[in-house]
Amino acid sequence: MTSYADFYRQSIDQPDAFWAEQASLIEWHKPFDRVCNYDNPPFVKWYEGGQTNLCHNAVDRHLADRAGQAALIAVSSETGLEKTYTFQDLHGEVQRMAASLKALGVEQGDRVLIYMPMIAEAAFAMLACARIGAVHCVVFGGFASGSLASRIEDAAPKVIVSSDGGSRGGKALPYKPLLDEAIRLSSHKPSAVLLADRGLAAMELVAGRDHLWNELREQHFDAQVPCEWLDSTAISYTIYTSGTTGKPKGVQRDTAGYTVALAASMKHIFDGHAGETFFSTSDIGWVVGHSYIVYGPLIAGMATIMYEGLPTQGMDKKPNGGIWWELVEKYKVTVMFSAPTAVRVLKKQDPALLTKYDLSSLRALFLAGEPLDEPTARWISEGLNVPIIDNYWQTESGWPILTIANGVESKPSKFGSPGIPMYGYNVKLLHESTGEELTVPGEKGVVVIEGPTPPGFMQTIWQDDARFVNTYWKSIPGRLVYSTFDWGIRDADGYFFILGRTDDVINVAGHRLGTREIEESISGHSQVSEVAVVGVADGLKGQVAMAFAVLKDSSVLNDAAACARLEAEIMKRVDNDLGAVARPARVRFVTVLPKTRSGKLLRRAIQAVCEGRDAGDLTTMDDPAALQQIRDRVETV
Ligand code: ATP
Ligand code: MG
Repeated sequence: MTSYADFYRQSIDQPDAFWAEQASLIEWHKPFDRVCNYDNPPFVKWYEGGQTNLCHNAVDRHLADRAGQAALIAVSSETGLEKTYTFQDLHGEVQRMAASLKALGVEQGDRVLIYMPMIAEAAFAMLACARIGAVHCVVFGGFASGSLASRIEDAAPKVIVSSDGGSRGGKALPYKPLLDEAIRLSSHKPSAVLLADRGLAAMELVAGRDHLWNELREQHFDAQVPCEWLDSTAISYTIYTSGTTGKPKGVQRDTAGYTVALAASMKHIFDGHAGETFFSTSDIGWVVGHSYIVYGPLIAGMATIMYEGLPTQGMDKKPNGGIWWELVEKYKVTVMFSAPTAVRVLKKQDPALLTKYDLSSLRALFLAGEPLDEPTARWISEGLNVPIIDNYWQTESGWPILTIANGVESKPSKFGSPGIPMYGYNVKLLHESTGEELTVPGEKGVVVIEGPTPPGFMQTIWQDDARFVNTYWKSIPGRLVYSTFDWGIRDADGYFFILGRTDDVINVAGHRLGTREIEESISGHSQVSEVAVVGVADGLKGQVAMAFAVLKDSSVLNDAAACARLEAEIMKRVDNDLGAVARPARVRFVTVLPKTRSGKLLRRAIQAVCEGRDAGDLTTMDDPAALQQIRDRVETV
């Protein structure tokens, strides 16, 4: 077996040879003439001259060997529905959906916006778009009409696929009124809306515009819609970033590079095998849902679980913090993917739930999306007795940038580190203002990627090449490199540690500190379940750190003396771990922190509130009450 170091070296030194070999993991209609075209940096074209299809590789390709094997397992603890679609079934459903979209006028290159809960029909719609060469734009089903309207405006979809509603914690959430309002707000109007009626909420149909999936599905039940062979560089989809640092960006992806990247990552990183089951707890509204609920596992010939519901609710709708592990046991999941924010929710549950089920099939649990603090990593890894693999990436990259390539060589992971650079990513640490490369272990710098970016990486920002170049490639003086806008260090073994967003770096009297470092120290306190640290302008020191912590036992909030004691303890902890310079000016206690709908801390909003500024774009925020708590705490300072 090659060592990972050699594997990685080849990908950087001989990218053409490396990626030509990876290309054989997928099926092509027409072979490519050129592996990588980087004639016009930073724009990259992978596999020019070739033709393939994402849906063919995810579905049709498997009909020969595994038509009767499970492909999509739709499970909802909200409605109690549990249904397995084989590759053969999936092939049928996707063709019915493709025929319905075509009947509504969708042609190659047209956009189809998908605003759906986590139901099988959402995956059918994505795969159907890929099949006919339409560009899908999935918008997270939890967004309200304002956020949805701006995405309709930007994507200008010919058709919108939606549903009567979703459900959360057993409560139906009607989608249709939000969708109608969003279409009213948008100056672009779709010519048709296709609706899956789950019987959750009443729907008023707009005559001539709205169509029911059940009816079109019947009409096209026996439809045969062959895959369109698409040029390698044809756009497969657009997706918006989480909006943590500002207005979301519309990421655009290609067809062949993405298909190859996913096939390669399933093999080399996730070590998932055909015939096994993959379970990602994300949502199709996020990039993880695109890459590792829908496309990646299916391309690898694996069954994929699509789960609708909370991590704390059983199929009988009663509280059950063990539902995910129950599913792992039942479907013999071998590889699982989740997020630190979800694990922190489980941490509040009875730890006995982690050992109640037979998890012997599970080989690894991958976590991504936010920094994985050491206490959380240890808790879940010891509780489940399964390797926990942190992985760092972005909507922009489409697949992990830093992690451990489990399928190449099982290098040990280090708690607190998402790992090492993945093949194809020429990752560097640069000095933020001089652009100088940092090579000494422990030096802090901006994590950047030197072009050409690997297959699967974003092509550009949808309809805005200039914004793509200016946003991502021009931030370091004198160098054309892709900035992740994350701040990190590398240790002597080459492992990276992410210290927070570049926006979140705090400068206290000339000392530069990552918010993450301070958060890591505070979250080590036994009573803290979660914490956010922001830098706040200070006349004397430039900036000071402010901490907002959620306690495991929120009743302490009513006891002012206990809060004061805890604040002092936490400050002392930071003093010991990082030095007094990092000590937060105040530690405030709240019951919930403001987050995006994808579970990321909205530090910029907290910071703005602390500085008395306008909180900015909050369209992706989950719970407005959380920011109000921050306001209340700040005002009482
Ligand atoms: P926006 O770009 O709109 O501000 P966002 O950056 O939160 O939003 P995503 O693409 O969903 O949108 O998130 C990527 C970011 O999440 C990374 O840049 C990084 O800050 C953070 N992140 C993801 N995975 C990890 C990880 N394993 N460890 C630390 N941070 C992570
Ligand atoms: Mg980002």
